[in-house]
Amino acid sequence: MLKLSLSESSENFRASLREWLAHNPAPRSSSDTSLESFERVGRAWQRSLAAGGWLGTHWPKEYGGRGLTLVEEAIVQEELVRVSAPQILGLFGLTMVGPVLISHGSEAQKTRFLARILSGDDIWCQGFSEPGAGSDLAAVRCRAVPTEGGYLVTGQKIWTSFAHVADWCFVLCRTSDSQRKHEGLSYLLVDMRSKGITTRPLQQISGDKEFNEVFFDSVFVPADNLVGREGDGWKIAISTLMFERVVLTFARQLQSETALREMLARVDASTPATIKADLARCVVDACATRALAYSHLMTYAQGASPGPEGSLDKLLWSESFQRLCKVGVALCGPDAVRGEHDSEVGPDLHRYLYSRGRTIAAGTSEIQRGIIAERILGLPRLKHSLA
Ligand SMILES: Cc1cc2nc3c(=O)[nH]c(=O)nc-3n(C[C@H](O)[C@H](O)[C@H](O)COP(=O)(O)OP(=O)(O)OC[C@H]3O[C@@H](n4cnc5c(N)ncnc54)[C@H](O)[C@@H]3O)c2cc1C
Repeated sequence: MLKLSLSESSENFRASLREWLAHNPAPRSSSDTSLESFERVGRAWQRSLAAGGWLGTHWPKEYGGRGLTLVEEAIVQEELVRVSAPQILGLFGLTMVGPVLISHGSEAQKTRFLARILSGDDIWCQGFSEPGAGSDLAAVRCRAVPTEGGYLVTGQKIWTSFAHVADWCFVLCRTSDSQRKHEGLSYLLVDMRSKGITTRPLQQISGDKEFNEVFFDSVFVPADNLVGREGDGWKIAISTLMFERVVLTFARQLQSETALREMLARVDASTPATIKADLARCVVDACATRALAYSHLMTYAQGASPGPEGSLDKLLWSESFQRLCKVGVALCGPDAVRGEHDSEVGPDLHRYLYSRGRTIAAGTSEIQRGIIAERILGLPRLKHSLA
């Protein structure tokens, strides 16, 4: 694996986090797989990490961060993966709406929300996609109509991960029928306990119910919860997606490495040569993904903001993760279908099924290739023809 030399202060930071983790062990996976337990354990673990000062380390000090860089943020994620800590429950707040509020929010919004995002007191979900607006996100139809003191929001969101546990949702909605559809969008912060919100879970191919449909029926949202100005929604949504593709992908490629290490440990003399060759390719993939992610992180550490290069990280990671998970199933053989309980499949097959969605979530591979072609390589935009 790529070895990166860090500054002495970053290495000291890592050492103090390791010491903290030795005294504050991450929760172990439990036989209680209920939603209540997942939420209770997730909130408690996040509170503990925040109290230790290990979340939002690159956020400015005045908003509860430590004023460090994304390199320290990456170290936190590496160390959490090293001790097999569970995924942080408030990831969307920490990696998406938090950074967005720091860049675009009012002082009142920063004061009200940022500390609670860090502590996990507020868990956030992302209300962007709709049945008719996924890749073509600017086609959003969920509407916010001005009313006294704010807006009434009506419409539907879909594939909203963790909406069933979230306290708040950042919602992209239409506030005007401007000729250019990108211009009529606004970015609202919606309290999930507001009257008029219905959340329905959707089951994924893996059997998990991680995402949901969310219906808004004349939901009142105070004007203070508009981020930026009316009509700024598109610009702010894109900035959210850039953070998502860079920071979340970084965490996920570390989890892939853990899966790879665990698979390599299972290889022995009886493993077919074709599987060994596939695993060798996965090792190369992991090195390339890691090198790319770190080279981008280094530029952010020097002050650059996440841009379209996050599409490279996301594309490389999600496609190589699928290849890896497929090898995991082959390595396991027919036992992959057997879970602990009748209704479950084994962990390798579960991970493989889960991996199918990763080339869709946060923008499909086709969309990432389009961004890379146009915004990184500077290729001309294709004129689409249905004929
Ligand atoms: C596990 C998971 C979690 C998710 N979580 C969330 C969430 O929390 N919040 C949220 O808002 N959304 C979430 N999503 C939704 C996700 O962002 C969308 O599914 C994604 O953007 C694709 O949109 P779509 O499903 O409408 O597909 P479509 O946009 O209808 O795409 C269908 C197919 O057409 C292709 N296509 C579309 N346009 C183009 C084009 N211009 N060029 C080439 N090919 C094209 C696509 O690549 C795809 O193969 C999640 C999705 C998944 C799978």
